[in-house]
Amino acid sequence: MTSFTGFRRREARAINSGNLRWADTGPTDADFIAARGLSGEPLGALLERLKWGNDHRAYARCVHLLGERFYDRKKRNVVKALCHTAIREWLDENCKKCGGRGLETDKFRNMTTCTKCNGTGLHQYADYERAHMANLAAGSWKKYERDYETVLECLRGAVSSHTVGAMKAFEEVAA
Ligand SMILES: [Zn+2]
Repeated sequence: MTSFTGFRRREARAINSGNLRWADTGPTDADFIAARGLSGEPLGALLERLKWGNDHRAYARCVHLLGERFYDRKKRNVVKALCHTAIREWLDENCKKCGGRGLETDKFRNMTTCTKCNGTGLHQYADYERAHMANLAAGSWKKYERDYETVLECLRGAVSSHTVGAMKAFEEVAA
């Protein structure tokens, strides 16, 4: 059974790999590439490509598609800066203290749960940080807060349905 993180790591390697030969000896990078394309979730696939494949050409397209997702839900346009901010936040989501491990070393050199993120490994973005990234006055963030939550939901939804879709396609491709 392929685990989520295992799949993601393998996917990242496959994106960066020039080795696309098909082999009879178990799944190859080519299988992963094929599965990615079959996930049925173009925004999620592009976001993963941007993050794990360091493919910066995907960025503008991600912003555009994310804006479209918002429009589909709310029937109005979103402030583009919110899409930029959500993508940047997602690209840099690790806790600044523990680097995303969720663990830190105490003064007795024992590993303990990170006190900053409580072990989640995620950085909890504050309103002022988001406003700053979006180039908006910190005091005006309340006005954008709900739209921003929607943008984040669209983004996370796209990423998780891409992962689910790609894993399913991978099981079929590699079977
Ligand atoms: Zn932490």
